Amino acid sequence: MTSKALAIKWRPKRFDFVVGQEHVVKTLKNALEQNRLHHAWLLTGTRGVGKTSLARILAKALNCFEGIKSEPCGNCSACEQINLGRAVDVIELDAASNTQVDNMRELLDSALYAPSSLRFKVFIIDEVHMLSKSAFNAMLKTLEEPPAHVKFILATTDPQKVPVTVLSRCLQLNLKKIHPKSIAGQVETILSDEKLEFSSEALSKIAIAADGSMRDALSLLDQAIALGDGHISTKVVTDMLGGLDTGKLVRLLEALAEGDGQQLMLATTEILDSSAPLDQVLASLATSITQMSILQKFPTALDDSLEQKDKLIELSNRFDPEELQLMYQIAIHGRRDFEWAPDEFSGFSMVVLRMHAFKPEERGSYSQKPVEQKKVEKKKIIEEKNTGEPLDIRISPNQWAPFVKQLKLGGMAGMLASNCELKSCTDNLLEFVVPNEFANLLNDSYIKKFHIALEKNLKRKIKVKLNIATIANTPLKTENEHKRNTKNRAINSLETDPSVKSLIRHFDATIIEESVQPKKNKGS
Ligand SMILES: [Zn+2]
Repeated sequence: MTSKALAIKWRPKRFDFVVGQEHVVKTLKNALEQNRLHHAWLLTGTRGVGKTSLARILAKALNCFEGIKSEPCGNCSACEQINLGRAVDVIELDAASNTQVDNMRELLDSALYAPSSLRFKVFIIDEVHMLSKSAFNAMLKTLEEPPAHVKFILATTDPQKVPVTVLSRCLQLNLKKIHPKSIAGQVETILSDEKLEFSSEALSKIAIAADGSMRDALSLLDQAIALGDGHISTKVVTDMLGGLDTGKLVRLLEALAEGDGQQLMLATTEILDSSAPLDQVLASLATSITQMSILQKFPTALDDSLEQKDKLIELSNRFDPEELQLMYQIAIHGRRDFEWAPDEFSGFSMVVLRMHAFKPEERGSYSQKPVEQKKVEKKKIIEEKNTGEPLDIRISPNQWAPFVKQLKLGGMAGMLASNCELKSCTDNLLEFVVPNEFANLLNDSYIKKFHIALEKNLKRKIKVKLNIATIANTPLKTENEHKRNTKNRAINSLETDPSVKSLIRHFDATIIEESVQPKKNKGS
């Protein structure tokens, strides 16, 4: 293997070798084949997507001695000179570097003269949006009345900054970010050609990290080859990217799905100990949550090469769609707030704890729809696994009445809470009985509100079971009894009070029991 950078060595020399820009290649090839040639093209797209490579191939196709055709021959002296960057008539400029731009005017003036050896004089101007105003004006003059022998191939990462007067005279072609799958495919081709060993997982990590840029992917690959001494293993790439191995992230998501606090802390510690940059871990977490949301709705939507796809599908079924939405929000907000966190450790831990503690407002499904039913069943299984987890808050049946006040439930859901009796409370199941006469309160929407309030106050996911019973010791009943007892005691004390007694005796008075109001601060 040569020491030449892969990005240079593997720069595409033909349209057919350009990866991930099929739509642009097709447009250019058609134009060349039909000889419908513009005077100026503007190639737009983020860095490393192939703008300059395409510009050079186009320059060759325009000038190839075998004639203008959809693919340059690559062998004639015109193609060769352009490949080597020695063609006098192909003028390549980088507007981002000032030195070259200073003589821009001069260069453009030379456009008036016929090419010395090629068919066309081609100006390739990279990062064209950075040209000065006077340079743009000079170019515009040529663009307005272009000599037949002049072609402009402009490239920019920021087309918004190109003056409209210039834009309107160019055929604009937008290059896309290259799909990770296409990048991985090209990287694989290169490694096979270079006869180097690799793991597919390592390639997919590189492809994702490159974020649509082939040039970045190949730079990363160069690094990985150097670090791994020619062997591109998952470990080498994971260490190089400073990322986290997906297994740790999956364990975290699993603990969240199960609502298992202990496992969650273990998974979090494992991540904190991994020395991966936590900001990146959060980004990966947000990505995984997005993927789960997509897989939940469209299980076949994502590519099979997605790492741990089956696991993500399985996990996605353990969350409600709203839960995933909330977790995503928490992840990206957590990332944004990272700079305000006292340290990375706290920032990350708080995000994880928030995901564990917070539930969407409209959570819990009591719908009769069969698909929803299935989800409830799944949840049941998961919740049953939880029994070993230590309790955050446990309430005993006799604490139910004061606990109801804490729920702060109004309306019918509040009525339901006051009219049921807590029979048992385990880690994940609260069983209640509701007296017959209040069976009408067992309405889906009241139960849902009740359930949400319970989970919010207990700070964990629970299952709620409500049975109808003939008698029930409900908070309302208890309170009424308590009121009745207090009132009886009050009436009693009135009747035995000497001054009241004398009033009754002397004036033939009676006590109107309904009017007796016990003092509020007396008793509990
Ligand atoms: Zn040629």
